[in-house]
Amino acid sequence: MSSTFTKKPIPTDVDNVPLDVELRQVFKIFDGETAVCGVNLNIRKGEFFSILGPSGCGKTTTLRLIAGFESPSAGDILIQKKNVNDVPPYRRPVNTVFQSYALFNHLTVVENVAFGLKIKKLPKTEVRERVQEALVRVQMEGYANRFPSQLSGGQQQRVALARALVNKPAVMLLDEPLGALDLKLRKEMQVELSRLHQDLGLTFVMVTHDQEEALSMSDRIAVMSHGKIEQIGSPHEIYDRPATPFIADFIGDTNLFEGYVNNTEEARQNIVTSKGLKIVVDLPEYRPNVMVANTHSNYGAKKQRSEIPSGEVVVSIRPEKIKVTLDPPTHLVNCYEGQLEHTMFLGTHVLYVVRLNSGDLLRVKQPNTSASINHGTPVYVHWLAADCLALNT
Ligand code: ATP
Repeated sequence: MSSTFTKKPIPTDVDNVPLDVELRQVFKIFDGETAVCGVNLNIRKGEFFSILGPSGCGKTTTLRLIAGFESPSAGDILIQKKNVNDVPPYRRPVNTVFQSYALFNHLTVVENVAFGLKIKKLPKTEVRERVQEALVRVQMEGYANRFPSQLSGGQQQRVALARALVNKPAVMLLDEPLGALDLKLRKEMQVELSRLHQDLGLTFVMVTHDQEEALSMSDRIAVMSHGKIEQIGSPHEIYDRPATPFIADFIGDTNLFEGYVNNTEEARQNIVTSKGLKIVVDLPEYRPNVMVANTHSNYGAKKQRSEIPSGEVVVSIRPEKIKVTLDPPTHLVNCYEGQLEHTMFLGTHVLYVVRLNSGDLLRVKQPNTSASINHGTPVYVHWLAADCLALNT
């Protein structure tokens, strides 16, 4: 299995791609508890769309609503432009792959994959051909007569994928599909799943709590929190331009400083943090390729200008954007003195924890190329105004 795989480029004219799945103001309330709260989603034909969020945020319920295993308390669900609110799961053009594989243990691989087609009473030759084609797709043709108990976790998940593919759904729904696999196998299957998506050109909707998985596999990601969608965007947008402090904190590692906007100039803002640090932040409009989804409304497909932060804000700065030096840098902005308090060796990188003279702790991640710095050493840290972000709280 190759680990080198390049995703197809994202089409430039995305607004004209037809929609496969639409959620319009969808709510799901269980016994008075709101699991999904006014969710709007537009998922384009052929895209790899991930729903990402912490445990209990409502992502699985959202997927189950699309699958038809739950019905909405309010709102509409459309698949390929047809309202499916009253359509049972088996009549929807979707198939779901579960984390637990959900294979029949008493049936062989072939029998598992053929099961749905036999129920539909398709001719035997067609069943045989389609099952073979699906097994080839997931590279399991050599395991046709084995039982699930004779397969590894990764192989069982491939069979589960084949069982979904054999029905030729318009949309594949994947509920934490790699959640039961160990890390190495999970990485391999991520590549395989991306390749499969690209080869088939189907719409994939995947639920995951693993940010790295969502960032590496998806065309777009919806980040959920407390039943609502906080932001929809490409992996780059979500990582580099999080719309809220929650997303900045949830996706990847970041340093967050509470403060307020002291003044706004033409292209930048001066922020003062609660401990008196003065941070200069470039305004979003002055950064290249900014596309910010409208928080909480999230039709997400439209470009929208981001709002200029004002009043109380949180400044987010990623550890890898910060430089640490022993000599004073020549930078005039976002340069602070401190002491190295802790070092963690991460293999390819080193994580430094620096105590600034203001008392703030700062996490700095640098490639493992320079000489190590001793604890207690006075250091300077600095970063570019374009590399940090002010977010309204
Ligand atoms: P996880 O990653 O832990 O699976 P999730 O983000 O997928 O979490 P959901 O499973 O969608 O979250 O659950 C959202 C909320 O709805 C939770 O508070 C959960 O307890 C509740 N919930 C989900 N299904 C049901 C149900 N059938 N009956 C009652 N409450 C439910």
